[in-house]
Amino acid sequence: MNLVRDNILQTAGYIPGEQPTDTTTIKLNTNENPYPPSPKVMEAIQAVTAEQLRRYPSPSGQKFREAAAKVHGISPDNILTFNGGDELLSVAIRAAAGQTDDVAFLEPSYSLYPVLTDLNGSRAKKFSYTIDGTIWSLPKGIEKASAKVLLIVNPNAPSGHLDPLETLRHIAAGFSGLLVIDEAYVDFAPTSALSLVKEFPNILLLRTMSKGYSLAGLRFGYGIGQPALMKQLEKVRDSYPVDAIAISAATAALEDHTYAKITWQKVIAERTRLTAELQRLGFSMPASHSNFLLATAPPAGGRGAKELYETLKSRGILVRYWDLPRIHDKLRITVGTPEQNNHLLDELGKLV
Ligand SMILES: *Cc1c(COP(=O)(O)O)cnc(C)c1O
Repeated sequence: MNLVRDNILQTAGYIPGEQPTDTTTIKLNTNENPYPPSPKVMEAIQAVTAEQLRRYPSPSGQKFREAAAKVHGISPDNILTFNGGDELLSVAIRAAAGQTDDVAFLEPSYSLYPVLTDLNGSRAKKFSYTIDGTIWSLPKGIEKASAKVLLIVNPNAPSGHLDPLETLRHIAAGFSGLLVIDEAYVDFAPTSALSLVKEFPNILLLRTMSKGYSLAGLRFGYGIGQPALMKQLEKVRDSYPVDAIAISAATAALEDHTYAKITWQKVIAERTRLTAELQRLGFSMPASHSNFLLATAPPAGGRGAKELYETLKSRGILVRYWDLPRIHDKLRITVGTPEQNNHLLDELGKLV
């Protein structure tokens, strides 16, 4: 007796990065911001009243929408709140793609995309990044895919590279379905696709408070798009996807974006230093516009990426490793604090 649909039985589900419960592990595996959130966030959480908890929250997360509209110079109607960016992805796919429809995405990219596609019973249409040494680029003609949804992460995960705005504009103009531009790491990048939202009714930007705003534990993300699209997606969301505590905390974080910006600048400075130090050890990697690096282990004679990952782990440093085609020789390393990065460099220096 099968209690669930076949496509659910057949998918393995999403495999999250490890979350150790001890406080001594140097955790460079899931791209959290290494600095704490703004003190205003903790104040906002402490100021939540019993009455706010007794009542249902604002279904739209209105306070947050208004704050985000102000920060981005758009209207609250352009913004939809979600229980993490991951919920946005699930809603976008459910809203746009039916059972026999194609959902298009790149490989390698966010490993949640194929899982959500399978769970929806849709068909995965996979495209490959062209990888030439450390240069990653989108394949030509991707916009002609007959898919209902096309998912592009920019800045990219896991490579950290940034596709130019012109490329995204060209794809948005040529693609007939919903183009989701996943900007989970945009806070660490010099440009965003925000300006394209006014031009194209088929663009949905994903934003999250998990990375740039140090709130991965809160579960808060949002989408930016034209009001007509947001209205439809709103029907597909949970009725109360963001809770009262999360609305208060996320709003306080976004309003204090000057605090967050200081953490981004520190991460970017360390990204530059870590890149140079890893190169000195013989690693190579694409120029990163994110808060992580995809470092290819030094060739020949040295230990492979998998062994480096395992040895680092045994020494209390977690990085991300995937035994997958085209990235099995690489480690994805979140940029940590200067102290954390020094520990990593010390250990790697002994191993390569
Ligand atoms: C972190 C991340 C998200 C969203 O994460 P949430 O914590 O659910 O907001 C989306 N896409 C990519 C590529 C990510 O790395």
